[in-house]
Amino acid sequence: MNTLYLSAEDARTPEIAAEIVKSGGLVAIPTETVYGLGANGLDENAVLKIFEAKGRPQDNPLILHVADAGEIVKFCHDIPQAAYDLAQAFWPGPLTMVLPAKDTVPKRTTAGLSTVGVRCPDNAVTREIIRLAGVPIAAPSANISGKPSTTTAQHVLHDHDGNIDAIVDGGACRVGVESTIVDLTEERPRLLRPGGIGPEQLVEVLGDLIVDKAVTAQIDHDAVVKAPGMKYKHYAPQSEVVIVSGSREKAAAYIHAHFEPGDRVLCFEEELPLYDGCAPLSYGQESHVETLSAGLFAALRILDDPGIHRVYARCPVGGGVAYAVQNRLKKAAAFHIIDAEAEA
Ligand code: AMP
Ligand code: MG
Repeated sequence: MNTLYLSAEDARTPEIAAEIVKSGGLVAIPTETVYGLGANGLDENAVLKIFEAKGRPQDNPLILHVADAGEIVKFCHDIPQAAYDLAQAFWPGPLTMVLPAKDTVPKRTTAGLSTVGVRCPDNAVTREIIRLAGVPIAAPSANISGKPSTTTAQHVLHDHDGNIDAIVDGGACRVGVESTIVDLTEERPRLLRPGGIGPEQLVEVLGDLIVDKAVTAQIDHDAVVKAPGMKYKHYAPQSEVVIVSGSREKAAAYIHAHFEPGDRVLCFEEELPLYDGCAPLSYGQESHVETLSAGLFAALRILDDPGIHRVYARCPVGGGVAYAVQNRLKKAAAFHIIDAEAEA
């Protein structure tokens, strides 16, 4: 198959992409979070192609992308006021809400769950594609399952060139990590995945929030979890990733003491001078945490190289989007964290 390259700046792109969606094809779409691998979310056969192209386990549900908050009544029932409040505050934007699913949503999309994740992405071209297609677009991140997510069209082509119908190139993703997921189907709202909307922002609207254990710890492969995807290996380059926490100086001392040829250091731009001789790679500025979220997956892709033995990674502290960066890095490291302060 020849993968059609469509620029988001070309006025004909939304119509061409929408036609592919309507006819059951696969289109990679740009969003403010990461690139998604999209198909008609109401068409079981089209959705199956997403799972096949990604090598995604069938029990890992997809997110339905809508062009407007008003559309969720078509796919969800018993929608609480909190959902409308969150949509008002954060849509279009990097927030997915889990709500009870109507029968209009195929089980293939929800991976057999009675709930569905819905999101309105902050990308005008992608919303126009959804509008013209006349159906919600089911889309997980466009990476091959288990690999770092896709934040540029080049990442998508690297993983899927010749294997999907089209890609819409909308440039590099602004947020760079996947959406925040909040489950609104229980008595109390539950954070299933941190993302571009910080937990503090959710609490401001909801007044309450439980953080699911899948956010903070490694989940057993056999465990029954609220967000099924979370037990799988995620975001990981081929090499072993180890997070080194603690002050700049203590972390650098620890890494220099343990660094071996073939290792790499993933650090903040401000720290580059501390790692002469350790092949450091910066993923953004610690002082501008949104540059870290925007740069993380591109950096993990560079480090996805069989020649690299171990990656020592520096992780930002704090809330907001830093909380999401911590979560992705911890998952990439399978929660292997060394406290340089305690080691000193
Ligand atoms: P991805 O965008 O590739 O990270 O995949 C979508 C994520 O949304 C997966 O990790 C799913 O576990 C999560 N998700 C989608 N629908 C639901 C749902 N109904 N309940 C819980 N999590 C969901
Ligand atoms: Mg993903």
